[in-house]
Amino acid sequence: MNALFVHPRIGRKATAFLAREHKLLIGGKWVPALSGRTFETYDPGTGRIIARVAEGDAADIDLAVQAARQAFDGGAWGRVSPSERGRMIWKIADLLEQNADELAELEALNNGKSLASAKNGDIPLSADMFRYMAGWATKITGETLSISTPGSYHAFTVREPIGVVGQIIPWNAPLLMAAWKLAPALAAGCTVVLKPAEQTPLTALRLGELIQEAGIPDGVVNIVPGFGPTAGGAIAAHPDVDKVVFTGSSEVGRIIVKAAAGNLKKVSLELGGKSPVIVFPDADMSVAVAGASQAIFNNTGQVCSAGSRLFAHKKVFDRMVDGIAQEAGKIRVGHGLSEGTQMGPVISQVQLERVTGYIDQGKAAGATVAAGGSRVGNEGYFVAPTILTGTTPEMSVVREEIFGPVLCAMSFDDDDLDRIARQANESIYGLAGSVWTRDLSIAHKMARRIRAGRVGVNIHGSIDAALPTGGFKQSGWGREKGHEGLNLYTEVKSVIMSL
Ligand code: ADP
Ligand code: MG
Repeated sequence: MNALFVHPRIGRKATAFLAREHKLLIGGKWVPALSGRTFETYDPGTGRIIARVAEGDAADIDLAVQAARQAFDGGAWGRVSPSERGRMIWKIADLLEQNADELAELEALNNGKSLASAKNGDIPLSADMFRYMAGWATKITGETLSISTPGSYHAFTVREPIGVVGQIIPWNAPLLMAAWKLAPALAAGCTVVLKPAEQTPLTALRLGELIQEAGIPDGVVNIVPGFGPTAGGAIAAHPDVDKVVFTGSSEVGRIIVKAAAGNLKKVSLELGGKSPVIVFPDADMSVAVAGASQAIFNNTGQVCSAGSRLFAHKKVFDRMVDGIAQEAGKIRVGHGLSEGTQMGPVISQVQLERVTGYIDQGKAAGATVAAGGSRVGNEGYFVAPTILTGTTPEMSVVREEIFGPVLCAMSFDDDDLDRIARQANESIYGLAGSVWTRDLSIAHKMARRIRAGRVGVNIHGSIDAALPTGGFKQSGWGREKGHEGLNLYTEVKSVIMSL
């Protein structure tokens, strides 16, 4: 076996975590995979192996589902009062903050993102999500209903936890994705089997330890790293899972829907995007340039709601493209743990080839590279922040989600908002969109015309815990975060009593 790479900037606590055995959390115990197998996890900044992790498959998922079933049906979790549940969820947030440095280092090492973005973004946002949902635990209510059936009745609804939930998450924000999934499920009173992405299992495992420390009863949260078709597929198909919640590619979303058909488990999906950034000529250019640049280059473009299609009015198109190109040129690309890094690598060799492959396809189809356009260095998986101009709606770079730092810039020469919106909406996706203008009327009209689950005006988006996110069209089913996100984990029951 290859020796593990120990990054010199990793602190004492994260080093100690990396040196431990990485097992599966099932029924409150850390156990090896039944098969005895492990898989390697990498530092995308160097391509070197940083840890070996127990590889769960269908047999381990089955045990985890049994544990979750037992914790749900056996009442261990149901006997915890909403107030106490809220307190435990809040405690998870406190523990995330207490261990923020360690978690940020692990996230930067395993995902590649800059240490600063993990420390100032992912970790506090994860804590926020647990706190936000902790508050909901005591505020799950039904309604009393006015009934017209002849007679005398008392009718009301109750919201009950949906049961055992399987959660499959991606690698672009490993801890935050786990937080977005676990926090509402716990607040609602569900039990969970969580499968982190095979590329980034580490912070989810550390979170599992903190969840135990917070006092969440055994079996309520089970964490089983493993591969998509095996462990993930087993969750989606399992007859004892009441709901599967997935974030990832639209391609896998379709597979999950099919697998879920067996027991007709409930499904929520947060899938791909190709979100428009629409800039009107009256926009504050400095705000629009910085915002559009952020929208595509943040997290190395590995964001499902990334603003990957720029539509700028002809009058400001050149200023936008030149401005974003200048911003792109200033971004310091480097290892997530290096001092001053602003943009880390993409997640893997596969993703590197995919992103550079798209850039090549764009060039072959006639697009012009206005910034970046290639890999950076030859160690790790770095791609330069890239802008393509001369792109047209039929090009694959415009139609398909690249999930990397590649912006396709297009212009419009029109005042008709319906036509502008039609152009921006020309996508199978509908996750997000943004409008940049100082005109209140244009802002409101465009916000209504964009066919997407989240619209920003003079901001591309926010990942506030209170703001629901999700997809129109092929970008998904359901909304995560906010009160809507809590409701993903409850079933409504109506009760009628004849008096
Ligand atoms: P990517 O290809 O960028 O890694 P995916 O959508 O394949 O994105 O992965 C997101 C998550 O879905 C990961 O946790 C992955 O393991 C899981 N996954 C991949 N394929 C399947 C599948 N066939 N069934 C269930 N889960 C899957
Ligand atoms: Mg995949």
